[in-house]
Amino acid sequence: MEEFVIGVDVDDVLASFTADALRRLSEHTEGRHHFTVQDVSTWDPFDSLPQEMLSYRMLIYDAMKAEGACFALPVEPGAREGIELLRSLGHVMAVTHPFKGAKTWTHERELWLEKHFGMHRDDIYNCKKKYRVHVDVFVDDKVANVEEWRAFHNSPAGVLWATPMNRSTRGALPLMTDWKKLADFVREVKQRGR
Ligand SMILES: [Mg+2]
Repeated sequence: MEEFVIGVDVDDVLASFTADALRRLSEHTEGRHHFTVQDVSTWDPFDSLPQEMLSYRMLIYDAMKAEGACFALPVEPGAREGIELLRSLGHVMAVTHPFKGAKTWTHERELWLEKHFGMHRDDIYNCKKKYRVHVDVFVDDKVANVEEWRAFHNSPAGVLWATPMNRSTRGALPLMTDWKKLADFVREVKQRGR
């Protein structure tokens, strides 16, 4: 029997990328510029912040591209239990776009996914063109990735993971606000077919 595969994005679904960028901004400015993910309504957090924060963008991103930074990313609350729940329904694979120009990112992400989620490196798709990934359900917090996947596969099984960052650009995409809702969606797709 063919395996049912669930493809899950990593940054801002499993790993707290945006929160970590904001933490670094706050630390770098000694608490003078403190923001939370609720202050961000764009995929790139710096597009939501006051314009004077743009001068910190490269510095923060360079720090996040440095050796050790990817491996140190916090796990999103509830993500471990969420992945366990999905594993009761199918085979979970990570679908992730490595941070461009970060020499150690991909290797550290493999180690991170193994450490926190027990994921084998064979179960990780590293790619930018996520729409090319053949899975039965595709979950991502980036609107464009979900739209492209749905269009390419002519399938409604691509869904958006709800984050504060995508709240203004969601359109009519099916929105997954928690892991239970995603698990229910996966069950539906298993029943009716992709
Ligand atoms: Mg993401």
